[in-house]
Amino acid sequence: MDLDKIREAVTMILEAVGDDPNREGLVETPNRVAKMYQEVFGGIGHDAREHLAKTFTLVNSEMVVEKDIPFYSMCEHHLLPFYGKVHLAYLPNGKVAGLSKLVRTVDLYSRRPQLQEQLTQQIAEALFELLDSRGSLVVIEAEHMCMNMRGIKRPGSKTVTSYALGEFKDNKELKEEAYKLMGL
Ligand code: ZN
Repeated sequence: MDLDKIREAVTMILEAVGDDPNREGLVETPNRVAKMYQEVFGGIGHDAREHLAKTFTLVNSEMVVEKDIPFYSMCEHHLLPFYGKVHLAYLPNGKVAGLSKLVRTVDLYSRRPQLQEQLTQQIAEALFELLDSRGSLVVIEAEHMCMNMRGIKRPGSKTVTSYALGEFKDNKELKEEAYKLMGL
């Protein structure tokens, strides 16, 4: 990531909106934002294979559900945060991933300019394809700062998205069972 370029760009934005980038409170701001972006956009250029390649063999193929995983992302339309909870489920096909790897996968896709719908789909596809699972289901509940701070201003409203693949897509009962385990 080009931190100098971010610093330069933030300085330009401060100038463009009519503030003085040299006043005391703003002198360090471009540097702080650059370092923050390094973390917030740290998922760019990374692949979920880094986390999901290592699996454990499991004979039992019961549904795995991980719910209430907190996430923070940046809306790609406004570069403002959206955040909330990810609930995920998959049907193992002889192998499972460590639970911390699932959380890292959520982080990897959250830490880039995103859309909630796209984030939901990308996590579901990673669980389906990289774990060779029989099915995956991801539900995301999120609040968008671009809805709260500007435009229609509806603080507290939540956007819910879901994406199903494999057996979750075809089997309605299975999907219902997963939603129940997710507490939805
Ligand atoms: Zn937005």
